[in-house]
Amino acid sequence: MALIVQKYGGTSVGSVERIEEVADKVATFRDNGDDVVVVVSAMSGETNRLTGLAHGIMKNPTPREMDVLLSTGEQATMALLCMALEKRGYGARSFTGGQVKILTCSTHTKARIQEIEGSRIHAQLEQGNVVVVAGFQGMDEHNNITTLGRGGSDTTAVALAAALEADECQIYTDVKGVYTTDPRVVEDARLLASITFEEMLELASLGAKVLQIRSVEFAGKYKVPLRVLSTFEDGPGTLISLEEDDRMEKPTIAGIAFERDEAKITVAGVPDVPGIAYKVLGPVSDAGIEVDVIVQNVAADGTNDITFTVKRADLEQASAIAQSVATSLKARELLVDRKIGKVSLVGVGMRSHAGIASKMFKTLADEAINIQLITTSEIKVSIVIDEKYLELAVRALHSAFDLGDPDYEKQSNN
Ligand code: ASP
Ligand code: MG
Repeated sequence: MALIVQKYGGTSVGSVERIEEVADKVATFRDNGDDVVVVVSAMSGETNRLTGLAHGIMKNPTPREMDVLLSTGEQATMALLCMALEKRGYGARSFTGGQVKILTCSTHTKARIQEIEGSRIHAQLEQGNVVVVAGFQGMDEHNNITTLGRGGSDTTAVALAAALEADECQIYTDVKGVYTTDPRVVEDARLLASITFEEMLELASLGAKVLQIRSVEFAGKYKVPLRVLSTFEDGPGTLISLEEDDRMEKPTIAGIAFERDEAKITVAGVPDVPGIAYKVLGPVSDAGIEVDVIVQNVAADGTNDITFTVKRADLEQASAIAQSVATSLKARELLVDRKIGKVSLVGVGMRSHAGIASKMFKTLADEAINIQLITTSEIKVSIVIDEKYLELAVRALHSAFDLGDPDYEKQSNN
């Protein structure tokens, strides 16, 4: 018998029929003797529909009223699920974020959870009830309704699991779990049985479609075992684990993340003096533009080139800023490449295995793909290439590292 927090996303509760299916699923856990706390999202499309209604009235509704409005989506789902459970003969009670006392800061529409009061939930569980909590919402110290940002129900579930010291937090969604890479790009992308928190965070661009990344950070920090699995198909899903010990013996690489729609800017031939990186990149970050890869190198003649990448959507603004910086620093030239992509190999096993980067570079060389930038961290190697070759690179690497092999996670690399 365990205490399990389960979260069901919008598509899993997208209709009355689906809510009934969720009730059946929850019932099987109760029949097993488990205590279950369910966190629900709004029915799919509902949060967008409510947002549309607000925008029909005004372009920038006050964030406080927006939170009052959007929190109703989850509130409808929680009541319907309780009804479905009661119909099946199971005791069930629904609670809003405020009723549970999910205390947040006062930053409406993107509030952060500060504290959760577990006593009301524990009391209900002791009476044998399933507790259903509205995801994505909380209450600030002045009793105002707040919401946690889009996709925030995942964070509600993880935070509740941490506060209640649950045995597992299960995130039910419409995919089977986390894959070695995007199955739309690589046909034999494989479902991962387990992955570490660190890897999951580095694979954010893959994982973001499955889980709100903030919830993964939260789970890592509070050591909540997190599992992502499908509502519609049986299967163990992917465990996002606390222990990297199981993985160290196992494969070196967990997966391949990639990002399209990036752009590259080089400010070339600036003086190599202290403060130059700040002079070039400070104004870009002051403008609120997110910079991804940064490479600086000094040429034999003592001048300095600074290259950085941004989202393609930010390129116009970033290159205008870089141009004015380049002019004021008397840079030799400004180079802009609008079409690049980034591919990252991620795995905690890299810490104990040499030769990963060189195998990656050889694979790309064999495909005649030119690498423009390389960056590494302890568990990641990223390369920036022409966007044209992005999918080719991902497929070649996926096969070079045998990531599609069904026995991959069982094999030991020692
Ligand atoms: N209903 C909210 C959204 O659509 C929160 C969630 O589903 O996690 O973003
Ligand atoms: Mg979601």
